[in-house]
Amino acid sequence: MDDRQFRTAMGKFATGVTVIATEVEGDIHGMTANAFMSVSLDPKLVVVSIGEKAKILNKIKESKIFTVNILAADQQELSMIFAGQLKEHKEVVFERLDGKPVLAGAVAQVACEVSAEHVEGDHTLFIGRVTDIHLEDKEPLVFYSGKYRSLVAEQPVTI
Ligand code: FAD
Ligand code: NAD
Repeated sequence: MDDRQFRTAMGKFATGVTVIATEVEGDIHGMTANAFMSVSLDPKLVVVSIGEKAKILNKIKESKIFTVNILAADQQELSMIFAGQLKEHKEVVFERLDGKPVLAGAVAQVACEVSAEHVEGDHTLFIGRVTDIHLEDKEPLVFYSGKYRSLVAEQPVTI
């Protein structure tokens, strides 16, 4: 099986889009990620999967904290910024949740402390113990088959 076939298949799993953020000595670093999952309710745990070449990897190892910012439909540009897909550098202002850096306007901001890390193949799974959450009533950004999408409101069925 080649890499393209694997990626094409995995891309058939429609996901939201998050920006994972962390902070080391006052420097905030963000990275776009869709490998995010809820893990446990008691205790409240989530997981993110970070590639071995990603700069954010060592930063999370050092800081032992991260936030997951679930992007809204109007935040595609932020996804592109934090995936390194824009040529020009854009300043992004972060706000704080539980003292950790989060993105304003996200559908959900989830603040975490690293409770475990597991190296699996060419990625590291970080398990995060959730310390705080902030929610906004907005539509999410969706990623499917390598393209950004948004949810289309369901048409009411008339009988
Ligand atoms: P960089 O490439 O240095 O950072 C990414 C970009 O963010 C750079 O352009 C940088 O300038 C900008 N940036 C960082 N911090 C700031 C800041 N404070 N202010 C302004 N700009 C800043 N990779 C994974 O490992 N796991 C995934 O689950 C994953 N999912 C993805 C989902 C999607 C939809 C996409 C498009 C990409 C995904 N990637 C994922 C790939 C990942 O986003 C890129 O490889 C990314 O460039 C790696 O980031 P980095 O930490 O190496 O840092
Ligand atoms: P794509 O066709 O490369 O990816 C489709 C799906 O394949 C992704 O949603 C993910 O589930 C999986 N995938 C892709 N690259 C992977 C990797 N290195 N490790 C594990 N799973 C991976 O989609 P695209 O729009 O071309 O993606 C843009 C860029 O972002 C690419 O460079 C891609 O490698 C990267 N990306 C990385 C991950 C990840 O590391 N988990 C996830 C998504 C996208």
